[in-house]
Amino acid sequence: MKKIISYCIHCGVEYYYQASGWHPPKNNDPKYCPDCKDSIMDTLSKIPVKFDRRLVETDDLTKEQALEILKKYDEELKGKREDGIIVGTRVLASLVNQKTGEQSIDRIFNYNGNEYYIHYWESEPDNYEIKKKVRWDILNNKEV
Ligand SMILES: [Zn+2]
Repeated sequence: MKKIISYCIHCGVEYYYQASGWHPPKNNDPKYCPDCKDSIMDTLSKIPVKFDRRLVETDDLTKEQALEILKKYDEELKGKREDGIIVGTRVLASLVNQKTGEQSIDRIFNYNGNEYYIHYWESEPDNYEIKKKVRWDILNNKEV
């Protein structure tokens, strides 16, 4: 656990901010003291959230196209690129079939400016799921 002494950017009070570890205190925030953060959260709770980003089913890509994109992406990860930048990937927890020990394939990748998610089992190659992250209008329950 890492605790940092911070100074509230609103009221100037000195307080501890828990930067890592389990069970952070209520209203843990690197910029605002617990009292100011409480006021902020109370005010924000009165304003409904109108938009968010969520995964929706898409037919933008076939499974073969998605796997080809991931193959190229993984090849880039095998070493440094010409510009010297090391690229990384996001790791997702996979599901495990308790009877066979098989792990599902779950990956997130970016393509043409969109974020996609693919899920499938190697033992069921025709049964797969591809989703795209979109901006969602919560009040009207639709993609925007
Ligand atoms: Zn404060």
